[in-house]
Amino acid sequence: MKQNTSKLARYSPLFFIRCCVQYFVGWLLHNANRDIPFLAKSQFYELKTHLLKKYATKVGTDIQHVKKDCWSCDNTGVFKSDWKMPETCWSCSGTGVYEEFWTRLDKYKLGKWYFHTPVERMYKYKPLFQGEALPIIEGYIHHIAPKYRLGKECALWLFLLFDRKTFWKELGRSGSPTNKRTPLVIISNSMFVFRYFDWRDYLPKKKPKYDFEYDSDELPF
Ligand SMILES: [Zn+2]
Repeated sequence: MKQNTSKLARYSPLFFIRCCVQYFVGWLLHNANRDIPFLAKSQFYELKTHLLKKYATKVGTDIQHVKKDCWSCDNTGVFKSDWKMPETCWSCSGTGVYEEFWTRLDKYKLGKWYFHTPVERMYKYKPLFQGEALPIIEGYIHHIAPKYRLGKECALWLFLLFDRKTFWKELGRSGSPTNKRTPLVIISNSMFVFRYFDWRDYLPKKKPKYDFEYDSDELPF
């Protein structure tokens, strides 16, 4: 959405509504982003990129640096074992680094929140100078999941509003182990219980009986 609004438009009701929509979508996305529904991960990220392009303002670019150590050689580059001579590690070809890459991320602002979407992955660092050096984020961005399955609730609302197909696919697909639930999570949970309901689970169960008896002293271990 374009940011260059004239002075007059700034006070129009349409501008106000647009701000409200941006804030609401931003809030939903912020919560959902911290607790991504693992079943529809790709659909979620697709939707996130689409919504950011549609509603958010691009505010810059960041570079994310990810370096994964080689586990085969404990990042020494040399593979050692008891049964053969030390040799150059096959997994990392002696570098001690299993994988290293830089991802260019577009930074967006929506409501009062900031979001990142990956644009390009580079296996050799090319400094992207855009006036000044870009800030580098080390490692993956970790999010703390919100309480009460609010993340799942917000993700379901986003799918309901913007991706109906995924919404119907995801609703009732998984249960959420928590007592404090929110509307769509409750519906989804009930559907999950209903879908996987098996009356045989509620029958009194026979305890398995073992015919043989043994003396613990006779056991060889
Ligand atoms: Zn290695």
